[in-house]
Formats: sequence, C-alpha cells, structure tokens
Amino acid sequence: MKEFDVVVIGAGPAGYHAAIRASQMGLSTACIDAWVDQEGAAKPGGTCLNVGCIPSKTLLDISHKYASAQHDYAALGIQTGKVSLDVDQMQARKRAVVGQLTQGVSGLLKSNQVTLITGQAVVQSATVVTVTLPNGEVDHIQAKAMILAPGSKPIVIPPCPVDHEVIVDSSGALDFDTVPKRLGIIGAGVIGLELGSVWQRLGAKVTLLEALPEFLPAVDAQIAKETLKTFKKQGLDIQLGAKVTEAKVTGQKNKKVTVRFEQGGESLEASFDRLVVAVGRRPATEGLLAESLGITLTERGEIPVDDQCYTGIGQIYAVGDAVRGPMLAHKGMEEGVMVAERLAGKKPQVNYDLVPGVIYTHPEVAWVGATEQSLKAADRDYGVGVFPLAASGRAIASSENEGLIKVLTDQASDRVLGVHMVGAHASELIAQAVIAMEFGTSAEDLALTMFAHPTLSEGLHEAALAVSGHAIHVASRRRSKK
Ligand code: FAD
Ligand code: NAD
Repeated sequence: MKEFDVVVIGAGPAGYHAAIRASQMGLSTACIDAWVDQEGAAKPGGTCLNVGCIPSKTLLDISHKYASAQHDYAALGIQTGKVSLDVDQMQARKRAVVGQLTQGVSGLLKSNQVTLITGQAVVQSATVVTVTLPNGEVDHIQAKAMILAPGSKPIVIPPCPVDHEVIVDSSGALDFDTVPKRLGIIGAGVIGLELGSVWQRLGAKVTLLEALPEFLPAVDAQIAKETLKTFKKQGLDIQLGAKVTEAKVTGQKNKKVTVRFEQGGESLEASFDRLVVAVGRRPATEGLLAESLGITLTERGEIPVDDQCYTGIGQIYAVGDAVRGPMLAHKGMEEGVMVAERLAGKKPQVNYDLVPGVIYTHPEVAWVGATEQSLKAADRDYGVGVFPLAASGRAIASSENEGLIKVLTDQASDRVLGVHMVGAHASELIAQAVIAMEFGTSAEDLALTMFAHPTLSEGLHEAALAVSGHAIHVASRRRSKK
C-alpha cells in the first residue's frame, strides 16, 4: 500500500493549494483528482480552471472587447469597420487558456514533489483512501492526515431538468457554439449576471428570472441599486420575484424552451432558444465518505468543520466549496494553505470577516466587510463616505465613469467596517480595501495616505475623505441616524 503524510482529495484551487503547501512544509503529499479530458488525461484545477473562474473570465474579457469595438470605439475616433464575431475562434481561445493553466497546475504539483493520482477517491477510514483508477483498478492509499477538497456541483431544480442541449447548467453556458437569439437564465446571481453579460454583449437578448424580490441581497443595497440600473441600461432584462414552475422543450430541428413562471400573482410565459439554470451550487460530497467514518454531512451536503477546517475525526480536514462559507476560489485557497500549515505545526487562521466578493461584469461589483443594511440590522452607529466615479478625472479620461465607491466606518472609532464598489477595475481596487482592513485601518488612515493621480484608486481615497466630509471632488457626508 502506498503511504503519504498527507492525502488531498481534489485538485481544485482549495486542494492544489493545500497539496503544494503541505509538500513545501516537508510532508510527503499525494493529491487525488478525478477530472480528465476526453483522452483521459488529468486536468487538475477543478471547477475554477476547467468550467468556472477562468473560462468565464476569458469569455467576459473577449465579449467586453467585442462590445467596446462595436459600440464605443467610434466615439473615441477609432474606426474599425464592421466588427464580426468568430465564436469557434473565441471558444478555441478559451480552451487554450484553460489548457495552459491546467497544465500549469500539473507542472506546479510535479515541481513541488506532489504525487498527482487520477481517479475517484473514497475515504474508507481515518487513514485509508481507495481510488478507482481510470482503468477500473482500485488502489489503496495510507494517509497520516487527509484534506478533503471535493468542491461543488450545480444545483438542479425539478421544473428545469438540464438536458445539456437546450437547458444547460453553467458549464453548458460556457460552451455555446452559436450566440442564442433569446437566452433565458434562471437565477440573477453571480453566474447568471456574468454569463448573461457575456452572451448579451455578443448579441443575445437575455432575460434573467430571479425568484427573490430583491436584487443581489448580499451586496450593499446602494451598490446593488446602482448596479441594477446599469445592467438594465445595458439591455439585460432582469425579472425579480419570478418563480419558475415549468420549462418545456419543443420542436425537432429548431428546438426552443418555453418557461412558465409566476410573478406578482400572475402566471406568465416566455420562450427562449437556450435556457441556463444558475440557481447556486451544492457540495460534491455524495459517495466520498464511508459511513463507518462517523462524519455526518449537513442538510446541504457540506462536510461539517470548525474554524480551522477540522472535521473532528482523526486527522481529517475539509476545505473549499465542500464546507461552510462562500463558494469562492480564494476562500478555498486560503483554507487549503491554513490546513497544510497547521498539519506542519504552525497556527495560522483564515480571517472569514474579510473575504472579498467580486462580480466580474462591466462595470465590476466588489465588496468586503459589512454592508450598510447589516450595520443597520445590528443597530450599529456608523459613518458613510461615498464617491461617484463620475467625479474621477481618470474615470472620465478612460470613459469608465459609471459607478460608486463607498466606505463604511464605526462612528466612534472611525475603523473601516466595509468597502463596496461598482465600477471599472473594482476587482483590483478592492484588494486595497482588504489590505487596509486587515491592518485595522481607520478612514482617517486612508485619508492621510497618498494615492497616485490620476487613478481610479483615488476614488477610495475620496470615499474615505468623504466619511469626515473632507472629500475634495464631492460633497458627501452621511451618518447613521441615532
Ligand atoms: P473545485 O474547484 O470544485 O474542485 C474540486 C475537485 O475535486 C474537482 O477537480 C473534482 O473533480 C475533484 N473531486 C471531487 N470529488 C472527488 C473524489 N471523490 N475523488 C477525486 N476527485 C474528486 N470563484 C471565484 O472566487 N471567482 C470567480 O470568478 C468564480 N467564477 C466562477 C464561475 C463559474 C461559472 C463557476 C461555476 C464557479 C465560479 N467560481 C468562482 C467558484 C469557484 O470555481 C469555486 O469556488 C472553486 O472552484 C472551489 O474550489 P474547490 O477546490 O473547493 O473545488
Ligand atoms: P448564486 O447563489 O450567486 O445565485 C443564484 C441565484 O438564483 C440567487 O439569486 C437565488 O435567489 C436564485 N434562485 C435560486 N433558486 C431559484 C429558482 N428556483 N428560480 C429562480 N431563481 C432562483 O449562485 P450561482 O450564480 O449559481 O453561483 C454559484 C456559486 O459560484 C456562488 O456561490 C458563487 O459564489 C460562485 N461563483 C462566484 C463567482 C465570482 O466570484 N465572480 C462567479 C461565478 C460563481
């Protein structure tokens, strides 16, 4: 039987980070992953690299360039002639990016002396894992410690059974070989908005049917309101409070799908060429753990863990999408590194209060920490500074002047409690807020920091100045009413 100090199950972002860090710490490490390409070759990187973060961002980037060339360049004095789209080439570019990065992960695992094993793993006991290899053979592996990182899968809802042709999940929506004329999306969450934006920019008429009456409830309400306005202006048809009851595929050659939904007490119907189901993801934990192990999954299928990702059984830890918390690649990466370091005797801790969130649309939405509605609900006394990008010299110069940057502080101490933004490059700008908040910054600290001019980052500076009413380019001072 092969023996390792650490066996990691899953080579997604959580698993491969854990495996590399464990090996760097001097622990003999194997990483087992089931993801293979059509030829049966290993494709480590999990959902994120294969059908998630990376392919979606590639299509977002390409579709943004296409839409800009079509609609924005002429006003800047750039004449392009007729701009047309080659979907095959776009998809080939996406596959090339994914291939480069999955090969990169294989190379990283190898150069860090991690043994990558391709196959489906089952945890038989606190020290034994079996792996069903692609040739059907079953291997037994002995592990002193285990890190479970099996990730997640799309949720399927009964009214919309995915047929991978007309009704697809997020993976299918990354792979369309033509631009659908009418695209329906169930769920106006992160995936719905990102992939809806991709196909809308490429020419589809996109309708999002969202069950909740509120748009992006987890996002600061002021930012969510601004974002909804912008998306509607872009042409996304976002229907809130729409409860889907049935989706029926009809036709032989030119198939279409008719969706019935209830909204505002009325029963309504809409027809689409393709329908994407994007209603959330669930942990991919079925069949992973032998019953005798004694780990009982939560109702949602999560592996129960404490703040250090420990399951309470032997030396078994679990990280990433399969455990509580937001299903985000960077959250899983940090958990993987934390667990590997703890197994090597260090005592790091993930700061779950400062997990940044980003929606990579255009403009981008990004946030960290408390929202204004959460501070109100907690009856906190808070300060607010808001800076509209319409007042930013760099934003105007770059024709990117849509959006807001907002800083929320504790009224008494001035400590920054949350930063929220909608605007170009918000995914990059939010890192400044995360760093500052990790160091316990006050709005005054940010206000006293020098920012290069002209940059979008000055918007964060101005929002911090606005908390005390000292912003130079806007008059904005607001306090919670207490
Ligand atoms: P996964 O990436 O799901 O990897 C788990 C791996 O474990 C897989 O390779 C799987 O095959 C393997 N596995 C599972 N069970 C077994 C088993 N029994 N034996 C062997 N191997 C097994 N997050 C972001 O932070 N930013 C984004 O921009 C972003 N965009 C996304 C876009 C889309 C369309 C989707 C679907 C998701 C996106 N996410 C994004 C979410 C992100 O992909 C996940 O949070 C992240 O991949 C979770 O990492 P993980 O390592 O926990 O699991
Ligand atoms: P989500 O939770 O972001 O959004 C799902 C939406 O579907 C919600 O608004 C929900 O109210 C709605 N919904 C649920 N059931 C419904 C129904 N029956 N009818 C209509 N609407 C319904 O989930 P997602 O967009 O599927 O994304 C899955 C996960 O992947 C998320 O946890 C997200 O964090 C992650 N992800 C992250 C990024 C990013 O970081 N940029 C991008 C894509 C995905």
